[in-house]
Amino acid sequence: MSTTLLDIAGIAVSPDHYIGGRRVASAESFDLFSPIDQRPLGRISEGTAAHVDAAIRAAQQAFPAWSALTAAERKPYLDRFAEEIGKRADDFCRLESNDAGVLLSRMRHGVVPRAMLNITWFAQHALELQDRPIDTEQAHHIVRHDPAGVVAIITPWNAPLMLSTWKLGPALAAGNTCVLKPPEWAPLTCSLLADAAHAAGLPPGVFNVVQGTGANTGAKLVSDARIARVSFTGSVPTAKWIAQAAGANLVPCSLELGGKSPFIVLEDADIDNAAATGALMYRNAGQVCLAGTRFLVHEKVADQFIAAMRGYVERLTIGDPREEATEVGPIIHPRQVERVMGFIERAVAGGAEVLWGGARHPFGAQYVQPTMVTKLRQDDEIVQNEVFGPVLTLQTFGRDDEAIELANGTDYGLGGVCYGETGHATEVAQRVRTGFIWINSFGIRDLAAPFGGIKRSGVGREGGDWSFEFFCDIKDVVVPKKPFRASFSQR
Ligand code: NAD
Repeated sequence: MSTTLLDIAGIAVSPDHYIGGRRVASAESFDLFSPIDQRPLGRISEGTAAHVDAAIRAAQQAFPAWSALTAAERKPYLDRFAEEIGKRADDFCRLESNDAGVLLSRMRHGVVPRAMLNITWFAQHALELQDRPIDTEQAHHIVRHDPAGVVAIITPWNAPLMLSTWKLGPALAAGNTCVLKPPEWAPLTCSLLADAAHAAGLPPGVFNVVQGTGANTGAKLVSDARIARVSFTGSVPTAKWIAQAAGANLVPCSLELGGKSPFIVLEDADIDNAAATGALMYRNAGQVCLAGTRFLVHEKVADQFIAAMRGYVERLTIGDPREEATEVGPIIHPRQVERVMGFIERAVAGGAEVLWGGARHPFGAQYVQPTMVTKLRQDDEIVQNEVFGPVLTLQTFGRDDEAIELANGTDYGLGGVCYGETGHATEVAQRVRTGFIWINSFGIRDLAAPFGGIKRSGVGREGGDWSFEFFCDIKDVVVPKKPFRASFSQR
């Protein structure tokens, strides 16, 4: 089915679209570079209006048969899809490491197993979706979750495989057909997903990939009135644009956006544990939406915490993400490096102090040192806006109320971390206005649990039933228990 293939470290991957079960090339294309050493990886097809149209038509044609299957009938297809991802595990790991700079070790141990689970878990849980009954005195209600139709999925470059499968799993399991627009800075693992779907025998048109840039291909996809749902993960400005475009057609959107999450260290925290977790915020070079990036530390333990965290940060191995020992890799794109450095430079010019880092890292052109900035005001740009790089801020507080006010004092509300004696930390965490918060821990996720943010961090929740509710049309079929006879006096 291939057109021309790229050779990335010995892995053959298509740079083209996957529409109606076939590879389709574009006349137009764009360059892709590795963030590790800026070497060209190849040219990727740019989807035009005709490709977007063809993909939506293919998905529309596939919809009647796919949606008519029961969840139990769809499950073997999806289990095979996950198996085919597993068969290509090494290729997925090495591709995403090469095009997105994600740590190879993280791909192996975290991302690929999770991508497979994203497919199988929702395939299994879709079995429970069917016909939830509600019995009342008057009637028997059959609450159906009907697939919505053709779903547009748009994902960002920092976790393309994980986030694409996190959306595809529930969308396909619920009986929808999908058009995925991968991120243009890291499009390769989404292309390999199409190979896995093809090998698994997913019927043509059930899953389509249209490569391209956001402003061109992505915009055409989300503006199309034939789309039934838009599931988007990415930045706030793009989300606003998409919400307007989809809103023009009254198409529901799920928007998972940026974060500026607080990392609170209370006076009674286990400081060494908190500091060790703090250093984890540099994972993926800080390009993680759910990272706790604003450290709010009780003034009595601030020096102790800073010393402990500095110790962990100094021991981080910065380098090539393809090497097993590396803990911090590159930043995705030269533009993003400039953006990150700009935040540091403006903060310092405004009087902030750099506790560690603060400069580019000698390993390569797209590397920035793990950085911590302090002596800040709450309205400073670096406190208020998402940097999306290895740059954290530290502020101190004296009372819990102050910590909570600082924690809630941005327009974001994705997540948070709170270290302290468990009861105390839990009590403080309840008052932090975010979609989730971890007590004395970080990153514990479950596919059944809701994930998402409030305020500028997003609209809607993903995970478990929340994913299914978004990707389905909920319908109440009402069957009266007693014979019904029309009458105007009836209440
Ligand atoms: P982005 O918004 O620039 O791009 C995301 C995707 O949207 C890309 O595929 C892009 O091509 C596409 N796009 C851009 N303009 C578009 C348009 N007009 N119409 C349709 N599609 C368009 O975001 P990014 O820089 O790729 O990713 C980083 C952002 O993602 C950060 O803000 C980060 O916090 C956020 N993020 C959030 C989560 C979460 O779950 N909350 C997870 C990961 C990343």
